[in-house]
Amino acid sequence: MKSNKDYIAFTDEFSAHNYHPLPVVLTRGQGIWVWDVEGKKYLDMLSGYSALNQGHCHPRIAQAMKNQADKLTLTSRAFHNDQMGIFLEKICKLAGYEKVLPMNSGAEAVETAIKVARKWGYYKKKVKQNSAEIIVCENNFHGRTTTIVGFSSDTQYHDGFGPFAPGFTIIPYNDVRAFENAITENTIGFLVEPIQGEGGVIVPADGYLRKCYEICQKNNVLLIADEIQTGLGRTGKLFAYEYEGAKPDILIIGKALSGGFYPVSAIACNKHIMDVIKPGDHGSTFGGNPLASAIGIAALDVIVEENLAQHAYDLGNWFMDELKKIESPIIKEVRGKGLLVGIELTEKARPHCEKLMGLGILAKETHEMVVRFAPPLIIQKEDLEWALPKIADVLKIRVTV
Ligand SMILES: *Cc1c(COP(=O)(O)O)cnc(C)c1O
Repeated sequence: MKSNKDYIAFTDEFSAHNYHPLPVVLTRGQGIWVWDVEGKKYLDMLSGYSALNQGHCHPRIAQAMKNQADKLTLTSRAFHNDQMGIFLEKICKLAGYEKVLPMNSGAEAVETAIKVARKWGYYKKKVKQNSAEIIVCENNFHGRTTTIVGFSSDTQYHDGFGPFAPGFTIIPYNDVRAFENAITENTIGFLVEPIQGEGGVIVPADGYLRKCYEICQKNNVLLIADEIQTGLGRTGKLFAYEYEGAKPDILIIGKALSGGFYPVSAIACNKHIMDVIKPGDHGSTFGGNPLASAIGIAALDVIVEENLAQHAYDLGNWFMDELKKIESPIIKEVRGKGLLVGIELTEKARPHCEKLMGLGILAKETHEMVVRFAPPLIIQKEDLEWALPKIADVLKIRVTV
């Protein structure tokens, strides 16, 4: 039998080194659990960056995928298919919008939102061509395309990849005044994460999003919420903006939209915005394909019928309270919403993630000093009760002396 080490050495030989994974090679997943090639079992506390809210290999989504895979997988949008309409209607009804544009990866959906917002800016708000401005936040994460990394404030994300697209203004996150001051006559949109996930699970002050929403309304600026990570139950509501009653003009979703089976993303908005997109303006070979649509239908049904948002709310609040009870010289802050939880340490988080792995818990550091805990939303209290003493043991001990 080959070991984790063997697989890692073999893969490293052929793989671009654009990641620094924990040294574990997974071969099977079921629900909240995954197994490595040596047969060791782990609790998955990352959930594919929240793409696996429904758990690994959810049987209902797997069945929908298998059924559709035997029937019809791709038509391209040159023809219609019988699954896409059902999928898009489901998103519209769930999220409360009139129109949806389906894509594949999250970054593609963000790009789509940027294109739709700009075109709306030129044709509806009547901003001068090629001068539209979108306001974004420091410490954002919206994906990895050249346009998107161009407005990242993280040096590593953009160093070496320029030149970048103009038209973005970066302001501090969680700063209403900065937002208000940054608006000009050319501002057409404000692209924001309700909680910055990759940025280290940064939760803005209560009322922040609501105030931004009001400023957007007042200035005819589109509120564009990137809920790719915070959406679909993760934070204890179907969408994190619900905490603030700040319904975005354009909602961006992805990740758990497929339950981890396939890249599926989308933007949702109302007709008066989506109408600016005409045939030929935008597209994707795989966007809205029948396989993705069938998977998306099942993935959304699971979130709703298994009541995952409410479950994440109840369990997340309890879990965070328990984490806050851990007495440790290296814990700076426990924060989050629902089952999107970050523990900021006073030292590097990576060695602690490695120790957790040794104890059968997979979590990943984000932004160096933060350990993120974001298990599949189907997790039960007893599973977290199993994990908590292990987490406490690891996070009590200083690594750097
Ligand atoms: C993951 C993520 C993205 C990018 O999604 P990809 O599918 O990796 O392109 C964009 N925005 C947020 C908030 C994310 O968490």
